[in-house]
Amino acid sequence: MEQIYTIPVNEAFEASAADSESGKHICPFCRLFKKLERDETELILGASMMEPDTRVKTNESGFCPEHLGILFTMGKRLPLTLMLESHLGYISEQMKQGLFPAKSGASAAKKLKSISDGCYICDRIEHNFSMMIEAAALLWQNDSSFREKCARQHHFCLEHFTRFLAAAQVRLSKKEFAEFYRTVGAAEADYIAALNEDVSRFCKKFDYRYADEPWEGAKDAPERCAAFLSGDKVEL
Ligand SMILES: [Zn+2]
Ligand SMILES: [Zn+2]
Repeated sequence: MEQIYTIPVNEAFEASAADSESGKHICPFCRLFKKLERDETELILGASMMEPDTRVKTNESGFCPEHLGILFTMGKRLPLTLMLESHLGYISEQMKQGLFPAKSGASAAKKLKSISDGCYICDRIEHNFSMMIEAAALLWQNDSSFREKCARQHHFCLEHFTRFLAAAQVRLSKKEFAEFYRTVGAAEADYIAALNEDVSRFCKKFDYRYADEPWEGAKDAPERCAAFLSGDKVEL
């Protein structure tokens, strides 16, 4: 297990456990994802920007709408525009290749679709993130202190719990996986059931018969539900 993956995993789990104890509940994998995203966006507009290998990749993949939006907020308009100039030049070349002869327009469409669907930053994040999820499964398998850290998590968002579970299923023995599901899975199941109750309470409060009942912490249940379903929007 490489430390470049295990160290950030341990740090994110520790930070989320500590936050959780002070009432701030963030999925540790969302925290990791956000850190990777911040590192990659800073790198691409900084040290990596002029590297020829990187330029080839950004030319081919471009950026998804979300990451292009983030890059525009970073106050580095010239480096960003230089990269876009080069990317647009690449697209322009692909167009020309498709136009002559006209029959190869179909392959140009295919190529253009791969460009418009691509994102250099998403690809980089996904490579590291998938390694980190796997590292988390291996840490759970081999490190009792990491099991304790897992037990101190408030919850995982749905997407990341699903990926953690899938990695654990591949990496752990049958017996270990049963234990993983009995502990990590049971805590997650409890969280989902409690969240479901809060969402129900929120809905019930709009029925005049229950309007005077206390909120009991359900006021922000829709936001918590959205965070669980689509990932915590964590600011680091
Ligand atoms: Zn998450
Ligand atoms: Zn992206």
